[in-house]
Amino acid sequence: MDIHRGYKYRCYPTVEQVELLGDWQGKQRFLWNLANAQYEYAYSRCRADRWRLPSAVGQIYELTTLREMLPWLRDVPRDVQNQLLIELNLAWQRFVKGIAGRPQFKCKGKHRAPVIAPQDYRLEGEGRKRHVVFPKLGTLSIICHREPVGKMTKCAVSQDGDAYYVSIGAVVEADDPPVSTKPMVAYDRGVTNTIAGSDGSIVRNPKHDEKSHKRKVRLQRKAAKKQKGSNNQKKAYARAARCDRKVRRQRNHFLHVLSKDIAKSHGVVFFENLNLPNMTRSAKGTKEKPGRNVAQKRALNRGLLGACLGELKRMVTYKIVLEGGRVVEVPAAYSSQECAECHRVDAASRRGERFECTSCGHRDHADNNAARVLLARGIVVLAVEPTVTVCGDAGAQGRSKKQKLRVVRRGTRREGAAKAAQLTTR
Ligand SMILES: [Zn+2]
Repeated sequence: MDIHRGYKYRCYPTVEQVELLGDWQGKQRFLWNLANAQYEYAYSRCRADRWRLPSAVGQIYELTTLREMLPWLRDVPRDVQNQLLIELNLAWQRFVKGIAGRPQFKCKGKHRAPVIAPQDYRLEGEGRKRHVVFPKLGTLSIICHREPVGKMTKCAVSQDGDAYYVSIGAVVEADDPPVSTKPMVAYDRGVTNTIAGSDGSIVRNPKHDEKSHKRKVRLQRKAAKKQKGSNNQKKAYARAARCDRKVRRQRNHFLHVLSKDIAKSHGVVFFENLNLPNMTRSAKGTKEKPGRNVAQKRALNRGLLGACLGELKRMVTYKIVLEGGRVVEVPAAYSSQECAECHRVDAASRRGERFECTSCGHRDHADNNAARVLLARGIVVLAVEPTVTVCGDAGAQGRSKKQKLRVVRRGTRREGAAKAAQLTTR
């Protein structure tokens, strides 16, 4: 299988290069918005007039004429502009398939258009201090904290606040790993405890964002009060952005360490199927029908998003595949009210963080109990699957969402439980 990897290095452009990059940004943004307008127009006429969306090849062909009409566009390398049109096309494909949101028009000072060289770049030097030679931009010095492995693909220059980064993509060809025989585990995800496992483990949410939320709000308020457009305001906003970046890095570090640990020590990981976009919807309502408890819901949403429940699953999913394991989603309904021992569902069993069954008296931490319920459900889901592979079903990854649902629905719950019982007694 091909393993796609990304390497992101901090880079230090010179003052001239920073200026040039800012200039390119404006031109790339112009091109993005122009090309995106074509997509928007075609999309609006898709239904009624059966228009088709523009293709990347067609737009790249048109770019030749555009560069003749607007000579200032030629400052940016042709390859980089071609790649921008390809990225836009991919973004629209993802939108049409329902994987991602609609590609947006880019606004100055708010969004950045991609600056990506598909091939004509070089990585030079050895050791920690190296250089990337980017077309027309020149030599960028980078801190190579990790050796890139595999065949290098495209290279992007990006900006985060006042810091610049070079990202290099690489493809590694590797043999499929043997199917993992490590134990199964289910995790209940939440805000107070990021995960609680069916094995009794609990990882508390470090709440990085809560710790610096006050500071960030204060910095943003301070910046907003400065004279509009002044250098002091720019500096103040940069300070707020640095605060935000720190939280993002802390969170990412925590999730990477946790997900790697989970992926290394388990063969199958069950997660409950959460509809995060619906869960984190605002309670604001409309002007005529304002919602209730808007501030509380906003705080809850911030907590849910800050806990990065979706990102953790995404990281575990791609890391566990390399170890020969897999992630399976199981239905989440009433998992927090069901007893893991006698499977009786009763809201009264749950008392805050404690769980005490009203029927059999089973006691446990509420989240660990929910994780054990999920484990039982997950084993049923695996048993109902047509090809019972306890771990590592490579075929499942290629299936569409609809097909996957069909697979799960093919058997009833009771049949699945009987099958699971057979498997365990064998
Ligand atoms: Zn019970």
